[in-house]
Amino acid sequence: MEYEIVVGLEVHVQLLTRTKLFCGCRTEFGLPPNTATCPVCLGLPGALPVINHRAVELALRAALALNCRIARSTKWDRKNYYYPDLPKNYQISQYDLPLSSDGWLEIDVATDPRRATQPKRVGIIRVHLEEDAGKLLHDESGQGAATRVDLNRAGTPLLEIVSRPEIHSPAEAVAYLQELRLLLREIGVSDCEMQEGSLRCDANVNVRVPTKDGVVATPIVEIKNLNSIRGLERAIDYEARRQFRAFHDPNDEAYGKRFGELPKATAGWLDDLGVTRVQRRKEEAADYRYFPDPDLMPVSVDEAWLAQIRDKMGELPAAQRRRLTQQYGLSHYDANVLVNQGRALVAYFEIVARAANDAKAACNWVTNQVLATLNERGQRIEQFPISAHLLGEMIAHIRSQGLNNQRARDVFQHLLQSGGSSVADAFAALGIREISETELREAVRRQLAAHPKAVADYQAGNPRAIDRIKGAIMKETGGMARMDVVQRLLDEELHRPT
Ligand SMILES: [Zn+2]
Repeated sequence: MEYEIVVGLEVHVQLLTRTKLFCGCRTEFGLPPNTATCPVCLGLPGALPVINHRAVELALRAALALNCRIARSTKWDRKNYYYPDLPKNYQISQYDLPLSSDGWLEIDVATDPRRATQPKRVGIIRVHLEEDAGKLLHDESGQGAATRVDLNRAGTPLLEIVSRPEIHSPAEAVAYLQELRLLLREIGVSDCEMQEGSLRCDANVNVRVPTKDGVVATPIVEIKNLNSIRGLERAIDYEARRQFRAFHDPNDEAYGKRFGELPKATAGWLDDLGVTRVQRRKEEAADYRYFPDPDLMPVSVDEAWLAQIRDKMGELPAAQRRRLTQQYGLSHYDANVLVNQGRALVAYFEIVARAANDAKAACNWVTNQVLATLNERGQRIEQFPISAHLLGEMIAHIRSQGLNNQRARDVFQHLLQSGGSSVADAFAALGIREISETELREAVRRQLAAHPKAVADYQAGNPRAIDRIKGAIMKETGGMARMDVVQRLLDEELHRPT
């Protein structure tokens, strides 16, 4: 390998509160500009902030789910800077006493069903709460019209989640972000809609290059505001290559420069061009002149409150994957596919597995037919017309009657279209019935008589010749004959002394 990629991700998610962090304004997305504002979030003199209890609770829930250490007391700090979408000229954030620190998130880069992979832990440095800024609406007509400011978003609660630089490939970064999104959605902390900006991601990237004096780490570049998973993956890949090239390019300012020899830079990602562009060398924390916000009390967190939050959290994805593999004997890959769809689908699968008394078959049906249908229809599992119980029953019947795949899919389609009445009705409507052994033996004899050439070939030592006869039997019985029974009857008939 030419170089090792080192990435730390800084993720901001908007919390699912109805109101803002320090005032009662609504947080709904898509309201007309500047209609969800008040003296507090407009930064008018004399207005005083009041902390949103629900926001702190959601932040604690996320921090616990990320295995963080929770601070018993946490405070609010002013981060001072001037920007047109920040009317107070400071952002209320958390500096030296964040709500939580030292956690981890388990990720799994399993993308290949045939290869078992080990989950990996990515460390979390801290999870803290802060308020969002407003939004600048730039005129893109090229007519030189003014930029407008929308302060609806100003004061919306944001959770900042900072990972350790323990991500070593674009694929791991994608797995981290996807797992974080799944986790935060499942525990009801954020809807994590990247398009709507309720999940935003910055990536701190550098590379470790082997040189004759040992491995050298390059200066860090922070790629700001990545707003899609695909963008994150491409940006890291591009930036790592660019830094490696710059390190060896005498005409580049980063030529031969080690980590610490250049200040950290920020860069934008130009998705259309597929390139990062370095914008500025960054301010140090001292430039922000952090100081405790005198208008806000510190928040103390006691064990009783944490216990209450833990109780309401439910099973987390990583635990769910482990349980599905242990309890149902699913492969690591299958458990991943189910869990990544969310809790509702896992609950559906579990009912199917119990009703079918066959977890592997249940998993196959759910991850193939059910998911494909949901995708086609753009539906969620809650809207799926076949109840979990009915699907389980269907799987059990299909097995007991030894139906082939085609007939099984017919039954599934029938249940789907009829809105799912009962398995017996579906079988009746499709003319599927149990064929008695006597009936089947007659069909076997008939087809053996009708294919003397195949019989002769088989007896001359070509085992494949029998397949033609099996096909004819399946055809005659409309695909309803059990293959294992057909095989037994064929053996008996062919070896019967004549
Ligand atoms: Zn407000």
